[in-house]
Amino acid sequence: MTVTTDARSNSTPTGVDETGLGDAVNDSGLSLPSDANGCPFQMPQSVESFKEFMYKTQEARRETVKAILDHAEFDVENYYALKKAYSIMTDENTTLFQREMTVTGNRRFVVNVKDEVLGFEKDIHFLEALIHIQDDKDLSTLADAYPLVDLSEVLAHFYPESFLDEVDQCVEFLKKFVKSAEEHPQGKKPILVTDWDGTMKDYCSQYATNLQPVYSALGMANFAKRFTRLSAVLTAGPLRGPGILDLTALPIDGPILFSGSWGREWFLKGRRIVHKDDISVEGIDALNRFQDEMQTLLHEPEYCQFELVGSGVQKKVDRLTLGVQTVCTQVESGLSTQYQDEIRERMHRVDPNGQVLHYDPSTELEVEVVVHNDGTVWNKADGVDVVIQTMGDTLDPPGRVLICGDTASDLPMVSFAVKKNPEGTMAIFVTQKPELRERVRTLLPSESQSCFVSCPDVIHAAMHKILKESMAN
Ligand SMILES: [Mg+2]
Repeated sequence: MTVTTDARSNSTPTGVDETGLGDAVNDSGLSLPSDANGCPFQMPQSVESFKEFMYKTQEARRETVKAILDHAEFDVENYYALKKAYSIMTDENTTLFQREMTVTGNRRFVVNVKDEVLGFEKDIHFLEALIHIQDDKDLSTLADAYPLVDLSEVLAHFYPESFLDEVDQCVEFLKKFVKSAEEHPQGKKPILVTDWDGTMKDYCSQYATNLQPVYSALGMANFAKRFTRLSAVLTAGPLRGPGILDLTALPIDGPILFSGSWGREWFLKGRRIVHKDDISVEGIDALNRFQDEMQTLLHEPEYCQFELVGSGVQKKVDRLTLGVQTVCTQVESGLSTQYQDEIRERMHRVDPNGQVLHYDPSTELEVEVVVHNDGTVWNKADGVDVVIQTMGDTLDPPGRVLICGDTASDLPMVSFAVKKNPEGTMAIFVTQKPELRERVRTLLPSESQSCFVSCPDVIHAAMHKILKESMAN
């Protein structure tokens, strides 16, 4: 299989497929995947079609990950789909990662697509490296090439020189975690619980298109399967709508368990398990009706862009988180204020006496509409407790547990694990902030139990290095 290594292929888009992922011929003459309408690739023009476009590319990633994990044949059209998407996202409509989109009439909306573009670029380089190894060594599948690829080298290209030193430190740290299975009296493998955004996935300007790359999904799945007895992702965002299950490239029923809403909702054994004992039935009902109202509002041309503004629209178990402004203040302040007024008006419609729902302008970038509860304060430690209990496992010694996070909201997970297993708890934090590093160190009995890195890719590169060694033996 021979592929072109020029990621910036160009095509002349014609036709009407707004999502952009239709029939086309790439620069090496190979046919690209068709959608149901068989229309050509085209630049996504609107907010809605941009989302759809990105979700289609995520399908290509998911199929790729699945094929490699299953040692099945890889469909090269999925590689070309990513390449095509990359070339569209970096065409003349994107300048310095800022892409203009149409909202309504002449109104333009600028979206920062840096994370999306870099995600494509890294995946394209990674897949090209795999494909070349497969060709070169005449291997039957890409899965056979996976342990031979140098992911650190692929990723180092995107970072300063210190990246590789950080990877080496993280490898040493992770080895202690992995090897703990040999020290366990019954040979039990350790447990991994991780945050998602900022920890396993770089932050993206818009939550709705914060999509996981292929290389990251493959590393996490292989690491979890090979070295842990339980691996779980615990995120503040929702499970669906969009949520972690829509944004990941991992198989959702694979070796990693997923939760949303700070661990209030879990996707376990094909079922959604929700902890909402502290929330009234009328509260849940009001939140559902409020969400319906918001959906209608977001269909109005004036407001549809808010689905792509920062947090977008996230339905969590006890709240709706709504992005109202971007980090770069790309939304006109008048429009943002108007949107917030509309939100409060919709709240008033479903809860005229203000008894059930609470409006929380949590930051300048987002507001939250929260259901009053019985006073219970839920944090990620409760989420960890839910998954460990539901899976019939324990954090107690002997054995190790690794907690990964990037903000103070992840600290309760560390405290919880330390309470159960002081000597066996380990923590990797993705942070450059001295205060947060200090807080992590203070929670753990010894300095050797924590490791700090500057970006999620250090963890992915380190996991792959360990996999490489282990798969080669
Ligand atoms: Mg985070």
